[in-house]
Amino acid sequence: MDELSSISDILLSFIQEKMSASASIFNLWFNEFKLASLADDKAVFTTPSAIKKNILSTKYHKLISESLEEAIGFPLEVSIVTEEEFRAPADKTQEKTTPVIAPYFENAKKKDEDEDEEKIITESISSPSGKRTLLDDYTFENFVEGSSNKFAKAACYAVAKEPNTYNPLFIYGNSGLGKTHLLYAVINYMKKNHEGINIVYKKCESFLDELIKAIRNGSTTAFKEKYRSCDVLLIDDIQFLAGKEQTQEEFFHTFSALYESDKQIILTSDRPPKEIKPLEDRLRTRFEGGLLADVQPPSFELRIAIIKQKADAMGLTVSNDLVEYMAERLQNNIRQIEGVLKRIYAVYSLTSAEVTKEKIDEVISIIDPGNIPTDALIEKILSTVSKAYGVPADQMKSKKRTDTVANARHVAIYIIKNLTELTLKEIGAIFGRDYSTVISSIDKVEKNIKTVNNYEAEVNRLIKEIKG
Ligand code: ADP
Ligand code: MG
Repeated sequence: MDELSSISDILLSFIQEKMSASASIFNLWFNEFKLASLADDKAVFTTPSAIKKNILSTKYHKLISESLEEAIGFPLEVSIVTEEEFRAPADKTQEKTTPVIAPYFENAKKKDEDEDEEKIITESISSPSGKRTLLDDYTFENFVEGSSNKFAKAACYAVAKEPNTYNPLFIYGNSGLGKTHLLYAVINYMKKNHEGINIVYKKCESFLDELIKAIRNGSTTAFKEKYRSCDVLLIDDIQFLAGKEQTQEEFFHTFSALYESDKQIILTSDRPPKEIKPLEDRLRTRFEGGLLADVQPPSFELRIAIIKQKADAMGLTVSNDLVEYMAERLQNNIRQIEGVLKRIYAVYSLTSAEVTKEKIDEVISIIDPGNIPTDALIEKILSTVSKAYGVPADQMKSKKRTDTVANARHVAIYIIKNLTELTLKEIGAIFGRDYSTVISSIDKVEKNIKTVNNYEAEVNRLIKEIKG
């Protein structure tokens, strides 16, 4: 069943991405939704109840078919049955399965679903990408290090090795940069190296849910007991505490109780404590009282290293040129890099075709529709600027120095510098000039922005138009 659950996992992450609905709606219908068999040209999915089956077959059928096609690279007929129906003896034929996706995900799936393990981490752990997973995937070993995340990784490692070295440890940075990965790495490391340690990991939102339920059911004592008796508390995405007064109050007491008995607390957030608003001062002070470590967007080199590592782990061969191409196009989010590779893997694991630039472009356009290839983006910048100033693109590239032409050229250069990762030299080459021209163009635009009325608004308008 391994291949099937792997495809299920990929598929679910695609579906979740596409559904703009909240996580709870997604969970409501897709929790326990599984690919049960894949034979000939038919995919059979199971779900526990008849109600879910009906909703999935009516409301979500198209979404499921499309996502499945994306995951495996070709269309299949999709049917959804209840688990009971699937088990019915008449349906024996459905047992035959076609192995489709194997090595990378098999590896990831090796985790034995050991009850004890689940108990240590008391609550359902969901993967960083959002769906049931695979703790073992996220370790210090497979966390690729670069200058943007080195400090956070070192801090997590120090705390994993010796809890209470820094307390609390507060990791912050934009989404998709590895915060949850680091938390899991800490958990994995601790489970291996500190026998019997009681670790509680919670996403902040489910901490909130749990607290609300506890209050409603009058079971706050059990709630308090649970959180105050752990050795290590990890709360992911703590920014969700903002504005939740009662939860902040409860969290403050939990925090203090743990802190005072030297229990390790690790928190992550998409922003630093001072930007979480509104947040009680006493909590903010506590958050800032330990070690703050940020994760920054990855450099070009780190993106290359990550792509290579992930492609290797999947057994996917991608030429160096294409690795660099992906690294250029996927700049801000490691989750996105992973999403692109998974989709490419899903397609190429079925055929022995070579990964091509076109396929990469296609996948990126699905995952990140606003992300245009650099060549196309430059074309768009030139045509937009050209239209706005009435100067044809070939004139911008020519030696012409009249004010109108020069100004259009400066603006185009300035926007290219802002919207692409091209070097000054590469930008110069587009206009048949060297890098010093590029610098002086950028200077001129910056000066005009400060001194000329409406200049900045106009440039911003152009940028907005280009970005679509
Ligand atoms: P965040 O919690 O900051 O939003 P995640 O930890 O969920 O980000 O990371 C998103 C994805 O990117 C995960 O699959 C994670 O394994 C991967 N990832 C992030 N940083 C790294 C890294 N430095 N090395 C390898 N994988 C990484
Ligand atoms: Mg996260």
